[in-house]
Amino acid sequence: MGRFDRTVKILAIVAIILLGANLAVATFVDDAAMQLSGGDDASKPLVVSSTTVLDDLVFQIAHDTVDRNLLVGPGGDPHDYEPTTGDQVAVEEADLVVLNGFGHEPMIERMVESVDKSEDRVLVPTTGLDPVYVAEGAWVEEVREEAEDPDDVPDQIPDPHLWMTIPNAMVYVDNIRDQLIELFPENEALYRANAAEYKAKLELVDRTVRETLDTIPEEHRKLVTTHDAFRYFGGEYGIEVIDTVWGVTTDREVTAQEVAQLADNIRENNVTAVFPEDSVRENLLVQAANEADALVGGTLFSDSLGLPGSQAHSFVSMMLYNAKTLAEGLGGDPEVAPDLS
Ligand SMILES: [Zn+2]
Repeated sequence: MGRFDRTVKILAIVAIILLGANLAVATFVDDAAMQLSGGDDASKPLVVSSTTVLDDLVFQIAHDTVDRNLLVGPGGDPHDYEPTTGDQVAVEEADLVVLNGFGHEPMIERMVESVDKSEDRVLVPTTGLDPVYVAEGAWVEEVREEAEDPDDVPDQIPDPHLWMTIPNAMVYVDNIRDQLIELFPENEALYRANAAEYKAKLELVDRTVRETLDTIPEEHRKLVTTHDAFRYFGGEYGIEVIDTVWGVTTDREVTAQEVAQLADNIRENNVTAVFPEDSVRENLLVQAANEADALVGGTLFSDSLGLPGSQAHSFVSMMLYNAKTLAEGLGGDPEVAPDLS
């Protein structure tokens, strides 16, 4: 990435952090909803989602009542994703755009703002959830160096990975359901039924995840991953996040000194296995694990689902797969619970 691109991107991230709250309060206008709900059955409304997880949640509620378009495909890194011209066209044409927000997909958020989409066509399904703010020292310093006014760069940034617990994901489901009903009220009964059925499944999955993780011996409930996507997951399910290569973003260079420090932390905390993530390159994590004589466990899914047909092709399968992978790598029993996937 050239220096100009990088500067543009960093400024975009700062703008998103400062303006994120505006997206989060988007509300719908009844007139617009009425217009959208009419029309020819042959042309379904278009819902564009930034990430695979959001796209899956939309699908679980809307089923085939909408056409869906996904910007960051399976295995992609939303933190680093630069939208294409085609993405911009899709966003322009979309009846609804769904973004995670809180700086998770900064270049997409910036692009959506540049398209000047009216607020009633943008949904940030994190509304109602309070993110944790983290002091991302090295990243913030780097952003400050390039910012026009360093004082505008906050000391702390929100951790956007809110979907990583099932209780939080249920809030996403409620917000997506309500927004779809606002836009397409003729489908209200269907959306309510689909959301209720899906949430019942999520409750089962939540119990299974807990049951699976509970088999990990207490002293091994420690997590080291590629980037800091498991903070909410760890808090909800009792796994301590010891350290990560990157923080809550992935778009900066990690120094050799930081990798050495990570290896020290792995060793000092008696972490037995580290876990790469599908959407983030793993070489530095593997390097730190080798230096610390820790094992490299199976690949976890966080910012992006796996390919269709894979073991993590949906949000539900991702949560189950992550729990099993952690149990397997940390001395638990991955098969303790019935298979729900
Ligand atoms: Zn992430």
